[in-house]
Amino acid sequence: MDDLRELYQQLILDHNQHPQNFRVIEDATDTASGHNPLCGDEITLYLYVENEEVKDVSFQGSGCAISKASASIMTTIIKGKTVKEAEGIFDQFHIMITTGETTGDMGKLAVLAGVHKFPVRVKCAVLSWHTMNNALHGHNELTTTE
Ligand code: ZN
Repeated sequence: MDDLRELYQQLILDHNQHPQNFRVIEDATDTASGHNPLCGDEITLYLYVENEEVKDVSFQGSGCAISKASASIMTTIIKGKTVKEAEGIFDQFHIMITTGETTGDMGKLAVLAGVHKFPVRVKCAVLSWHTMNNALHGHNELTTTE
């Protein structure tokens, strides 16, 4: 039970209930969709990139608390970063979510560190990140966690 309580921290519950940047960017420069068949999480990610900087980022979709909170927290962190910085954060997040190791200052993302103990939930947490990474690199095909 302790582990589960650690997993569903208040910040995760808050982001699930009130997701940030949960909207469509009409003039998005990049979009990508992702699907996690294991849990049923669906996400469409919108990016507005100008001069190698993520000026705006948003998402739509439905899914479990972890997938939604992860996407919501991601948008708040990626917004305003350069594409290079966003890629670096993606790498850091990927290490943390698969090993529980945090490298550098993870900020709000640290609340998701406990997810690595639940392999099924890892797929929920990484979905939005892989989708974002694919959108950044112009891969518009459906991202799947399988
Ligand atoms: Zn899920």
